[in-house]
Amino acid sequence: MPLVPMRPLLDAAKEGGYGVAALNVNNMEQIQAIMEAAVETKSPVIVQASRGARKYANDNYLRHLMIAASELHPDLPIVMHQDHGNSVETCKSAIEYGFTSVMMDGSLMPDGKTPSDFEYNVKVTSEIVKYAHERGVTVEGEIGTIGGIEDGHGSGGKGHLTDPDQAVEFVERTGVDALAVAIGTSHGAYKFSRKPDGEVLAMSLIEEIHRRLPNTHLVMHGSSSVPQELIEIINKYGGKMKPTWGVPVEEIQRGIRHGVRKINVDTDNRLAITGAIRKVFVESPEKFDPRDYLVPAREAMKAVCVARMTAFGQAGHAFDRKWPTLADMAKYYASGGK
Ligand SMILES: [Zn+2]
Repeated sequence: MPLVPMRPLLDAAKEGGYGVAALNVNNMEQIQAIMEAAVETKSPVIVQASRGARKYANDNYLRHLMIAASELHPDLPIVMHQDHGNSVETCKSAIEYGFTSVMMDGSLMPDGKTPSDFEYNVKVTSEIVKYAHERGVTVEGEIGTIGGIEDGHGSGGKGHLTDPDQAVEFVERTGVDALAVAIGTSHGAYKFSRKPDGEVLAMSLIEEIHRRLPNTHLVMHGSSSVPQELIEIINKYGGKMKPTWGVPVEEIQRGIRHGVRKINVDTDNRLAITGAIRKVFVESPEKFDPRDYLVPAREAMKAVCVARMTAFGQAGHAFDRKWPTLADMAKYYASGGK
C-alpha cells in the first residue's frame, strides 16, 4: 500500500476512541524502530519529519526510506507528515516530495519564532488547505502557541493557551482536518521542573474545544512523558541531564477521551536512543562498529514506540478497514467533504 493520508487514520481513531502516536524521524534506524513496533503491535503508523529532519536527512533520503517502509510492510497504513511547516512553501515542497499530510503552523511567522496574528494564520492555513485537499493530503493547523523550542522551531517561553472561540472560527474559516491545541505542554525534554501532580494540562480547555468542535481531530504537541528511568540511564552512563518531567501517559489518555487523536512524541525516543548508546560506550569502550551501539539504540526506541502505541490504544487497529488513498480523499474533499 502506498503512503496514506492522515485524515482516515484520525477518523478511524475517533470511531474507535483511541489516539495515534506521531513519531519523529531523522534517519533509517528511527524509521526501522517505528516500523518494528507497528508490526509487533499491529498499529497504524504516523511518521513525521520536522524541517530540521528534512535538512538533516535530505528530502530524497527521507522519501526513499518511507517508500522502503511501505514496500516492506504493504499491509500497514503509513502516513508521512510534515511537522511544523513554517510557511506555505515548506508545506508545498513536502507535498511534492510525497508527504501525505502537512502541518501548516501559522501560529508563528515563517521564522518559526515570532508569534503571528490570527488573520495571518487563517490566510496561510486556508491557502495550504486548498492546495493539499486538491491532492488528497491532510492538513493540521495550530491555534495558540506551544511553549519551548525544538529543532529551532518554537516561540520559546511558556506559549499561549488556545482560545476556544478562536479555535472554532479558525476551523470554520480554514477547513483544517486536525488542530494542534496549546494546553500547557511544551516542546523538548524540559517541560516541568517538578513531578506533575494531576492537573498538569488544561484538560477543561480540551473538553470545551472538543465539545464545540466535535468533528475536528485534536493534536497534542510536546507530549513526551520523559520517563525517569530513561533520564537515569543517561545520567548513570555519564550524561548530565537536569531533573525534568514530561506529560504523564495517564494525562494523555484523559486527552484521548476528549477528542485528542494525534499525539506527538519525539523526546522520549531521543532519550531512549541516547541512553542505549551511552551504555555501550561506557560498558564496552573497545567497540567501534556503529552497529554495536545502533542496534541497542534501535531496540530502545522500539520499546518506547511499543509502549506508546499500546497506551494510546492504536495497537491492533492497523487492519480495521481498507484505508483510503490520496486519490480517494481528493475526491472526498472535491465533493464537499469536510
Ligand atoms: Zn510541535
